[in-house]
Amino acid sequence: MLILRYVIGVPKYKYFLTYNYLCSMNYSESIVSISTPPGMGAIAIIRLSGNDGIEIIERIFRRKKPGSDLQSVSAGKVVLGSIQDGDELIDEVLVTCFHAPHSYTGEDVIEISCHGSVFIQERILQLILDHGVRLAGPGEFTMRAFMNGKMDLAQAEAVADLISSTNSQHHRLALQQMRGGVSGKLKQLRSMLVEFAALIELELDFSLEDVEFADRSSLRELLSTIKGEIRSLYETFRLGNAIKRGIPVAIIGKPNAGKSTLLNALLEEEKAIVSEIPGTTRDAIEDTIVIGNIPFRFIDTAGLRETEGKIEAIGIEKTYEKISQANIVLYIFDASNTDIEEVKEDLASLFLSLSEMVTQEELAEKRFIIVANKIDVMVHIPHHFSDYVEMEVVFISAKRHENLFSLTTLLEQSVDPAIYQEKLMITNLRHYEALQHSLDAIAEAEEALINNLPADLAAVDIRKALYHLGLITGEVSDDELLQTIFGRFCIGK
Ligand code: GDP
Repeated sequence: MLILRYVIGVPKYKYFLTYNYLCSMNYSESIVSISTPPGMGAIAIIRLSGNDGIEIIERIFRRKKPGSDLQSVSAGKVVLGSIQDGDELIDEVLVTCFHAPHSYTGEDVIEISCHGSVFIQERILQLILDHGVRLAGPGEFTMRAFMNGKMDLAQAEAVADLISSTNSQHHRLALQQMRGGVSGKLKQLRSMLVEFAALIELELDFSLEDVEFADRSSLRELLSTIKGEIRSLYETFRLGNAIKRGIPVAIIGKPNAGKSTLLNALLEEEKAIVSEIPGTTRDAIEDTIVIGNIPFRFIDTAGLRETEGKIEAIGIEKTYEKISQANIVLYIFDASNTDIEEVKEDLASLFLSLSEMVTQEELAEKRFIIVANKIDVMVHIPHHFSDYVEMEVVFISAKRHENLFSLTTLLEQSVDPAIYQEKLMITNLRHYEALQHSLDAIAEAEEALINNLPADLAAVDIRKALYHLGLITGEVSDDELLQTIFGRFCIGK
């Protein structure tokens, strides 16, 4: 009961932290970094955060129009002046101050916009370092924002997502998460769980008197409602992650069917984001291509073929693994030299193998498109193929880029329409796993209730569920977690 109270009674904040990571970063020092990309640009921005930040900049900044000092300049107002190393002028700059606590990090934040020469950037940076400021670590500005309660962990992670967003859907989800959409939902779920726990706690308080305050069936009902809510959020991950990383499309078919040619043709026609994630020739190669504002992650597989060789067998195994993970499967064949029986056989064995790897439900969710390739060397387009297979067939010439539009239109139409909805979605594997753990814990609590086990057992499970939900927003976190999350950020953010 005590333990339970501990969780329910967690004050507003903050953390079950081991402070090593934070101590290693010396949280009390002012930090500085160049926040624009490395190299030369028209302008560069040097950002500083810390409680003595403004005072430090005052020492090296000379205002063009003499007037009030930076301390008294109103927030966000840009001040023109110069950066001086003693009497030496380094650059003419614009300085913007954001006073604590109304800043990104919650501390004083100063941004210096200077000319973008690498030499100037480094001189100014060095000058600030010489005044006792420390170079910021990756993501340290955002970590300070998190530590100062300016944003929770899910919002901080969304900042990184926003920076790396490459398409409008991903951008929308990252913005939604950064502005607290996911956090708000989690807060609501947590308070439902706390409400549930409070009911049990009341009972525990009077445990010696053997009274049952909360009616078991309404407790079960409440728990099942909470579970349903968590599950629906949990289930958004498949699409959310696909939006973030690209909807996985496996390109499969026999060697020489034209898989690589098709991928290259699509890359040339559409906007490619990443080209060739490293892989061996027998491994899968991935490219993300934006078609109609939707990112598709094409996976060119090793090919489907009967094999006895061990290395090839690994390739085939990988192919099946990729197919089982894909939302869309493009089966491509050389229409100029393949008869329909061969295609049907191939598809039958594909379905057989897949049904051993994924559930029927998952299989039904996959969209299969048959691509009859090399129509450029055929006198007649073999439209009759469509009569023999119960799937969409599209006739193309990958080499000549013929009819690719029909294929890309089909791809767009194959995407779950939910992608266009303003629905709350989770995109982060860490959040997905935390929701999974929390669902497991709730299932255990449900079991305890169904079996009429003592209430404190259900209470422990609820505590576990709350713990896992808390990991998402950072109400519960640890050193390693923070290091992993913020370590992935770029320096200057
Ligand atoms: P993969 O083994 O399935 O990746 O097949 P490739 O893309 O390497 O293509 C195999 C061969 O077929 C190459 O010589 C390609 O130039 C050729 N090819 C691919 N697509 C077409 C097409 O649409 N028309 C013609 N005529 N040849 C093609």
